[in-house]
Amino acid sequence: MPAKPVTPDDPIYRVRHSLAHVLAQAVLRLHPDAKLGFGPPIADGFYYDFMFAEPLSEEEFGDIEKEMRRIIKEDQPFTLEAIPAETAIERLESSGEPLKAEYARELSTRPDGSTLTFYTNGPFTDLCKGPHVESTGKLPQDGFKIHSIAGAYWRGDEKNPMLTRIYAWAFETKDELKAHQRAVEEAKQRDHRLLGAKLDIFHIADEVGKGLPLWLPNGAAIRHELEKLAYEFEFQRGYTKVATPQITKKELFLRSGHLPLYQEGMFPPMELRERGEGAGGDEIIESYYLRPMNCPHHHMVYAARPRSYRDLPMRLAEYGSVYRFERAGALQGLTRVRGMCMNDAHIYTTAEQLKEEFKEVVRLHHDYYKLFGLDDYFIRLSQWDPDDPKRAGKYVDDPESWAFAEKLTKEALEEMGVDFVEVRGEAAFYGPKADFQFHTVTGREFTLSTAQIDFAQPQRFELTYKDADGTDKTPFCIHRAPLGTHERFIAFMIERFGGAFPVWMAPIQARIIPVSEKFLPYARRVGGLLRERFVRAEVDESNHTMGKKIREAQTSKIPVAAVVGEQEEADNTVTVRRYGSRDQAVMPLDRFVSELLDEIATRRLPPARDDA
Ligand code: ZN
Repeated sequence: MPAKPVTPDDPIYRVRHSLAHVLAQAVLRLHPDAKLGFGPPIADGFYYDFMFAEPLSEEEFGDIEKEMRRIIKEDQPFTLEAIPAETAIERLESSGEPLKAEYARELSTRPDGSTLTFYTNGPFTDLCKGPHVESTGKLPQDGFKIHSIAGAYWRGDEKNPMLTRIYAWAFETKDELKAHQRAVEEAKQRDHRLLGAKLDIFHIADEVGKGLPLWLPNGAAIRHELEKLAYEFEFQRGYTKVATPQITKKELFLRSGHLPLYQEGMFPPMELRERGEGAGGDEIIESYYLRPMNCPHHHMVYAARPRSYRDLPMRLAEYGSVYRFERAGALQGLTRVRGMCMNDAHIYTTAEQLKEEFKEVVRLHHDYYKLFGLDDYFIRLSQWDPDDPKRAGKYVDDPESWAFAEKLTKEALEEMGVDFVEVRGEAAFYGPKADFQFHTVTGREFTLSTAQIDFAQPQRFELTYKDADGTDKTPFCIHRAPLGTHERFIAFMIERFGGAFPVWMAPIQARIIPVSEKFLPYARRVGGLLRERFVRAEVDESNHTMGKKIREAQTSKIPVAAVVGEQEEADNTVTVRRYGSRDQAVMPLDRFVSELLDEIATRRLPPARDDA
């Protein structure tokens, strides 16, 4: 069953949203001059943003919770009030809530903004759409817990004041809260930054640069397997591979529209200079940028030759490296980086082919995710918002194409019987997109990959094909990256599998352990046999005790350990232990090799673990 986001129709949404109001009231009892920001429900609870005169300390969490329980006991009813926007703005200004007043002014400019709603419980009133529980007495006394604070800019904008965000977990029962706390603990153990270091997967060196991960041999092995997988899946589905440079001249990004629109997200240019003739000195003759996206290069591959309708659909694939500038403070392990490698492809189609190709892309996502045992996701279909007052700067102004692409993407997903939610106002600049949404073990939602319909870039790049009737037409383009970037995807996989990867993608697939030095030659023979067949096998050549060697293989989360001693050598067998299992089995060598090869070739998921 795919997990969808919590919506206002869910009972837990009311609980979380109501608890946010209770938190705000509690905080105001303790800090009467705090100013209110936003306080929405989130995947595992809620938060509320405040502007405090003095910083809040974590030691106050207990006092705030105590105050919240008191408010719950008071059983304050929630009452709704709808008032004209102007009165609402005045009320917020006079009650000394500048942030809320600012937001109310913004709401009042929207088509449905003439009336604004407030909810009141006890002495607390908040500008809010609801819904809420009937009264605070309906809220669980022991189903919530304040767990952290963080700084957050008002409306996420660095130019705005920094607020204090109070986070709380909230569930309908104490048991659910407890289960969630355990999941959070488990997630800490599986954190990709922790395991990435422990399992020698990646390293970030300050000398190289922040947000520029170095892939160690173990990490590079995983990347290799993902690229091999992508190559096979794409080959079978009619893609062809291309290879393009990671830098390009400024003019290409002017043409794509990345400059100046996306400049903030790009590294500054590299300028080639030539000695000037006169007093002018050095003159810039060419500017180059590191690419933040692969698309313009692929469009140039398309444009390199005249194309006919017979060439379409044309599917150009590349694991392409891109570079994006992120603030140092925003960088995080492999999930927020400045250099990344994307499982990219651009599919050029006729209008008639577009829907089927889009479906194929969705199917490809399903095929990949099935392989990784991922079935708890849903699609978020992001459309444009024709009523957005800022729409001119946000979307390509082409209502007809928007309507066409929207209808098509929706129909495609409906015809496929795929679960999706539609969101207005979150489309890309040049077309609707389907985001594939996942949840972390602790319930945080994130986008693993995005597929996008594009009717604008092909026009900008003047891409054409000769149609059957001899006329020149502009193709559509689908951007897709089912495996996202190596950085994000591998981070996700590390946490998903807790570092115990399926054999096919494990950095070291098998370790051969001789019971003593005497059996090293046989161990090497077994290892050699596997390596000849491209299995990443290694022989434990240490002089540690057997117990230690076995533990070592377990800590490194190596999926298969093959122990060899006198009996094994004499019988031409191995004793096999699987990661996480206490069982071991003696197996003829040739069967061991062929079963392992089969498991790798079919990319099987690991068997269930005894300790799981
Ligand atoms: Zn693209």
